[in-house]
Amino acid sequence: MLHIGSHLSSSKGYRHMGEEALLLGADTFQFFTRNPRGSKAKSVDPGDAAALRRLAEEKNFAPLLAHAPYTLNACAAAEEMRAFALSIMREDLAVLETHVPQAMYNFHPGNHVGQGSEAGIGHIVHLLNALLREGRSTVILLETMSGKGTEIGWRFEELAEIIGSLDDAARVGVCLDTCHVHAAGYDIVNDLDGVLREFDSRIGLGRLRAVHLNDSMMPFASRKDRHARIGEGSIGLEAITRIINHPALRSLPFYLETPNEQPGYAQEIALLRAAFHD
Ligand code: FE
Ligand code: FE
Ligand code: ZN
Repeated sequence: MLHIGSHLSSSKGYRHMGEEALLLGADTFQFFTRNPRGSKAKSVDPGDAAALRRLAEEKNFAPLLAHAPYTLNACAAAEEMRAFALSIMREDLAVLETHVPQAMYNFHPGNHVGQGSEAGIGHIVHLLNALLREGRSTVILLETMSGKGTEIGWRFEELAEIIGSLDDAARVGVCLDTCHVHAAGYDIVNDLDGVLREFDSRIGLGRLRAVHLNDSMMPFASRKDRHARIGEGSIGLEAITRIINHPALRSLPFYLETPNEQPGYAQEIALLRAAFHD
């Protein structure tokens, strides 16, 4: 069975997202832990979170995916910005562990903003070590990035270096964003096997825990990050069909971050379910 969902707004609470996912034909979803631009966390209604947990269990949901605010920069040049990222992530993890323990936590490694990728990677390792030392249970995922600006994590070797430098990487994985890797210059259209071989040799396929399934408005290797609807970008439906059916990927949870409202998501989910070989 294909495990798939879309990004959903958390503005109406946890249970609402679970019900919305079911209406879309999904068995999982992604949500922002808080306003993606701001930093204010909404206080969680424990009854609402419990209702989602029950629904997810009853309907056999695949793991949910919480996305950290993308404005955080774990490798900022300014120490107080890095400390801010750490405090937000720490707070998010505490909320997830208490209220939505079946969710994984995805974040963007960050932008080195001219310090160079080595310095950036050092900051990210430092932040993750601090987070992981606190002994929480949530799985933390580094997202593969497109390589725009000074982004870290668009090359598999950068993610490998981060993970390989951690004191304890047992709870750390990777979320592969199809739009981003394609824009970063990994040819998932013509050589999916080769890209996955490279992922495996550098990072290890065992680290791959989730896929952001998006088409790309921008061309291959453009290092630009613009998501397109499934089949409407430079990746295309054929390649996306190969991705969801690939033996190394087919059992992972897929999350759509395509430019859609709810009816568009429902259509894409139906399209992908039909393209999945049981
Ligand atoms: Fe993201
Ligand atoms: Fe993504
Ligand atoms: Zn993106």
